[in-house]
Amino acid sequence: MTFDPTAQVLPESPVDVPARRGAVLQVEDVAVQYDAADQPALSHFDFEVQAGEFVSILGHSGSGKTTALRVIAGFEKVQSGYVRIGGRLVASSFTHVPPDKRRVGLVFQDYALFPHLTVKANIKFGLSGMDSSVRKAQVGKMIELTGLRGLERRYAHELSGGQQQRVALARALAPAPVAVLLDEPFSNLDRQLRSTLRREVRSILKDAGATAVLVTHDREEALALADRVGIMNEGRIEQIGSPGEIYSRPSSPVVARMAGPCELVPGVLRGEMVETEAGRFTVDAAGYELESGADVLALMRASELELLASVNGSEPTGIKIAYREFRGEFTEFGVGLPSGRTIRVRRRSSEAFSEGDAVSIQTRGTSKVIVFPATGN
Ligand code: ADP
Ligand code: MG
Repeated sequence: MTFDPTAQVLPESPVDVPARRGAVLQVEDVAVQYDAADQPALSHFDFEVQAGEFVSILGHSGSGKTTALRVIAGFEKVQSGYVRIGGRLVASSFTHVPPDKRRVGLVFQDYALFPHLTVKANIKFGLSGMDSSVRKAQVGKMIELTGLRGLERRYAHELSGGQQQRVALARALAPAPVAVLLDEPFSNLDRQLRSTLRREVRSILKDAGATAVLVTHDREEALALADRVGIMNEGRIEQIGSPGEIYSRPSSPVVARMAGPCELVPGVLRGEMVETEAGRFTVDAAGYELESGADVLALMRASELELLASVNGSEPTGIKIAYREFRGEFTEFGVGLPSGRTIRVRRRSSEAFSEGDAVSIQTRGTSKVIVFPATGN
């Protein structure tokens, strides 16, 4: 046997998803417009997912998340740009491979199970054309993988929301798709079930070696689950990176707000410092590219700030504790600034400050402040 360096290694995965080197999903500069008069639903939409990766896309309602998945799945044509799945061109202005030929699995928020079919028959549904013994074995594997053993003969209305969603996932994974696309899969479930099920879904997908894209408007879901998170805004991915990067190194105010609660306080850059009504702070190196004297917005997050008591007799700063809320694991202080703006600071101890106390604000530890150019709006 000759050695073939390009041969692909198949993983020992229960669904035999072929491992591919490089991106499994490549979306390049895609544009989609529903009505000529409207804003495009997608424009300059760029996106890549590697084999076995779990990527989530976080965006507000209307930002184009569902359209993006429909484009990848083949339910929507692109006006321009390219979509490649497993290296094969499936969509461009002159190509459109139909959905059933794209080998992607779909899971929606409303489960979309066939009500007249049992769990087993629902999972078997996408496996036509397979040898019946292979099909049976595959259904068995899926039932095992998704923990549905014992529920095979039930109908959708005899299952909980979480169980229905696991059936939907089993059905999507059964034909060994190249990628699984999940559109807000947990939004119909109550909060507690959501966080349990999302952990389960992640572990099922990882065990299956599946490549997955999940879109959601729920920040916690997007950040908690994925290997990488893309922030979607007005029809394109504004930034993509690990959850930590997105949270700590947002590239724009939009990303900063999407990644976590924060305040953007106007200030002026002075060398390596930013001067704001909340105080003077050392600027994160990325901000040095802006010129000294530039108007900026300084990113303030409650978890990165610390409070100090104002020293008696020192110059009054007009910064005062506006409110104090005990939250168990921490205490949140609302700190009123001279302009009337309030910024939040989280501290472990609840004792040190009371409402009305004069304080000053610092960054915690070695934390530096990220600044964005103030664009005048
Ligand atoms: P999201 O899933 O992030 O909420 P969508 O992809 O559903 O966003 O929608 C993106 C934009 O496209 C919105 O402005 C929406 O109103 C519009 N849109 C979505 N589907 C259609 C459609 N079938 N016809 C016309 N406009 C649509
Ligand atoms: Mg949607």
